[in-house]
Amino acid sequence: MRELTGQQVVDAIRAETEKTLEALGGYVPTLAIVRVGENVPQLSYEKGAKKRMQNFGLDVKTFVFPEDVTPEVFFQRFREINADSAIDGVLLLKPLPEQLDVRRAEQMIDPEKDLDGISPVNIARVFAGEEAGFAPCTAEAVMETLRTYEVPVHGKRAVVVGRSLVVGRTLAMLLLRDNATVTICHTQTKDLKEECKKAEILAVAAGRAKLIDRDYVSAGCVILDVGINADENGNLCGDVNPEGLSDLAAALTPVPRGIGAVTTSVLAKHLVQAAARRLL
Ligand code: NAD
Repeated sequence: MRELTGQQVVDAIRAETEKTLEALGGYVPTLAIVRVGENVPQLSYEKGAKKRMQNFGLDVKTFVFPEDVTPEVFFQRFREINADSAIDGVLLLKPLPEQLDVRRAEQMIDPEKDLDGISPVNIARVFAGEEAGFAPCTAEAVMETLRTYEVPVHGKRAVVVGRSLVVGRTLAMLLLRDNATVTICHTQTKDLKEECKKAEILAVAAGRAKLIDRDYVSAGCVILDVGINADENGNLCGDVNPEGLSDLAAALTPVPRGIGAVTTSVLAKHLVQAAARRLL
């Protein structure tokens, strides 16, 4: 079984963004990270995103609001950030505290700067099968992984476990756009095992530690594990239990060092794309 590590995908994305940056002739795109409060997973994602932007030679400005910020203050500032011509892309860290209507923020974000595809305009573009706009970074990270490792998608039977808008549902649309025959599974799916066994490409984004084991996998399957969970010992693990898969599956993305590592590179790629679409 091949291990599809994220690093190779990151390198491929970096090479691609470097070309676009060259075409931008020294212009350094700037990402605005907007965070409300001190939520630990958000802080950790922010740290990773900043490091990646630095690594790709991109700038970051962080806008932090107190947990109890009023809607008036937050949305006025959020509008200004979106309108600022010195900012090429905006990443809004979610969830937002209760007093802030997340839908209002999603509708307010400039679709051309909406790097994680949360605006209704970008969602519609993804679901219409269009290439314009931005898809959520994690779903696209899966597609980038398939592309880098030259896994054929066209005509393949793909099964996605998970139907969240941010990962599973969007990923299903991206696989469909590349002409896979796609099945989406979720908590109400009657026989998950049988559905998964039909997969030539199996993408799992359920958020359930080790949900998928060898009983769910057919010989030669390529498995993409999006899950980030803690196992019984508190260690990081995916939605797939890799034990017993080595003589069965063709390939698997590890957790950690798999899809998670690619997500922030897609964010960087989107930032450079946003600048290029505006300036070239
Ligand atoms: P979510 O909770 O919003 O959605 C989970 C989906 O999985 C739901 O649609 C649900 O129906 C389905 N599901 C849950 N348990 C199931 C089961 N037993 N059988 C069948 N379907 C089941 O989660 P999400 O935001 O889509 O994230 C999914 C996972 O991906 C989480 O582990 C999350 O941490 C991870 N994630 C990773 C990245 C990354 O960068 N790698 C980014 C976002 C999310």
